[in-house]
Amino acid sequence: MNKENTSRLPVMSGKRAHTNSTDGEQQQPAQKKMRKVEVEPSQRFRPAASVAPPRRPVAVKAPVKPLRPTGAATVAAAPARGDQRRPVAAVAKATAAVSRRPGWDLKGKVSDMEAKVQNYQSKVKTVNQENECLKDSIAKVQRRTADIEQENNGLRRRLGDCEKELVKLATVKDDLEHTTKERDGLQKDLSKLTEEHKVLEGLRDHLESELRNIQTQLAIQTSALGRCQDSLKESQELARNLEETVARQREELHLGEMERRKLHNTIQELKGNIRVFCRVRPLLTGNQSDILHIQLPPHDNKALTLAKMEESHTGRTTDTQKSYNFSFDRVFGPRSSQSEVFEEISLLVQSALDGYNVCCFAYGQTGSGKTFTMEGGEQEELWGVIPRAVQQIFKSAKALSEQGWQYSFTASFVEIYNETLRDLLYKGKPNKRPEHEIRKVSNNEITVTNLTYQKVNNEDEVHNLIMLANQNRSTARTCMNDHSSRSHSVFQLDIEGENTARDSKCKSMLCLVDLAGSERVQKSQSQGERFKEMTAINSSLTNLGIVIAALANKDSFVPYRNSKLTYLLQNCLGGNSKTLMFANISPEEESFSESLNSLRFASKVNDCVIGTASANKK
Ligand code: ADP
Ligand code: MG
Repeated sequence: MNKENTSRLPVMSGKRAHTNSTDGEQQQPAQKKMRKVEVEPSQRFRPAASVAPPRRPVAVKAPVKPLRPTGAATVAAAPARGDQRRPVAAVAKATAAVSRRPGWDLKGKVSDMEAKVQNYQSKVKTVNQENECLKDSIAKVQRRTADIEQENNGLRRRLGDCEKELVKLATVKDDLEHTTKERDGLQKDLSKLTEEHKVLEGLRDHLESELRNIQTQLAIQTSALGRCQDSLKESQELARNLEETVARQREELHLGEMERRKLHNTIQELKGNIRVFCRVRPLLTGNQSDILHIQLPPHDNKALTLAKMEESHTGRTTDTQKSYNFSFDRVFGPRSSQSEVFEEISLLVQSALDGYNVCCFAYGQTGSGKTFTMEGGEQEELWGVIPRAVQQIFKSAKALSEQGWQYSFTASFVEIYNETLRDLLYKGKPNKRPEHEIRKVSNNEITVTNLTYQKVNNEDEVHNLIMLANQNRSTARTCMNDHSSRSHSVFQLDIEGENTARDSKCKSMLCLVDLAGSERVQKSQSQGERFKEMTAINSSLTNLGIVIAALANKDSFVPYRNSKLTYLLQNCLGGNSKTLMFANISPEEESFSESLNSLRFASKVNDCVIGTASANKK
């Protein structure tokens, strides 16, 4: 339609057409935008996302489409921009209608113009109305915009708040994560603890049941304890009674012990305070049954006969047998053992512990078995009198300690050679040996100056002393020709007993003497030193006989001081002692006369009765 109009209008129309076409071309996007604008109001109430300003397309493009009465937004926009071209376009259209009237038809033209004016007026009116409407709309939109802006600000603030809150929440989240981790850890711990708890519960249950058991047991034990306490009381009562009984019996035992000592002594006295035993040494070589000259009656252990066939001096009569009968307290044949021999002596050893002085000699020619009898061999079964006596003494002392007796022992070992004393327990240098003298001290006790008196506490110590004595003797033996056979050796054990509870004491000594060989001086045909030696021996042995005889005769004077031996043994030979003599006999036929001599000496002693012994009590 516009093209038609354009083509009919000269000059102007061309420009207009061009302008229009330009407008038309420009309208296209404008219209599109307008439509968009019209849509806008319905979109106003959309969410905040559509808040983008709607005014711009309306304001810019609306004037481009003036001929569309319906496009209120377009008309409303036109005045805002003050576009001058729109009335010109409307006039152009009226002109086109007018152009159809003939030129002369002015009236017609005026009416057309009027109609046009009217048309324009109505249009203006409409446009104004539209404009008002649009103004309202704009106001509304502005209000709305303000609202939205306000709302926007509110939302921004909220957003800010939310962001702050978000930050807070982030820290809260961190905290939460941390707390979650902690919670996980704690949950693990909890599960662990729960398990432990379960175990502990089990344990507790177990312990509880055990406790119950223990409580039951305790109850049982308590009742048992009660019973025990009752029986304890009874036992204590019983113990008191028993203690009284024990005390009574101890008293009785002590009295019994004293009685035993008395009775033992009576028996010893009845047996004789001086006793002589004869011991025949076995043949060192050959058959023991070859001993023909010594006859031992098979059923009498106290008799011995020494027999010798004597050739007739004339040769006409048959050989006569000469017999010498002897009787002793006991005769031991060649087969007697050391223990058999000691059995008899042990009673005397007991007497020594009971407080009686005891002396035991071995008398006989050299080689007759004196040393064997007194000391014996190394093996225990070959032990002689000394080691066995020592053994018995320590054993008995131990037994008596239970009755309150405490014993102390002192040993000495002395050798008398050529009337000179020699300490067999000497440990010093040989060239510094001291001299010894026998002295009588208070209480009539005999003591030897510079002699070793060694305290001994047990058997072993005594054995060691005996070994020392043997060493001392053996060194002497090498210096002098069989020195030991020509000297007396005296082992002395001083015994002191004390019963503090009973206030009793006893003191005694046990002397064990290995005498020098008793062979006679004439027979040995000795000369010089040897003669002197033999004389000394014989004189001391003779003096021993004299002393014993004097004691037997109860002589007022007993010549103890005539020899060192009797002087030393003075207290063992008096009325206060028990004496035992071994007459040792060699079995060889050539020893006949020496044997006869020894047996005679022993018989003399045997005939002596030493005055009744009394224990050295204090
Ligand atoms: P003594 O001391 O009288 O001179 P011994 O005691 O030294 O004599 O004895 C001489 C020898 O005879 C020693 O070899 C000893 O062992 C031995 N003898 C002595 N008596 C007996 C005996 N009863 N049994 C075995 N051998 C003995
Ligand atoms: Mg000897």
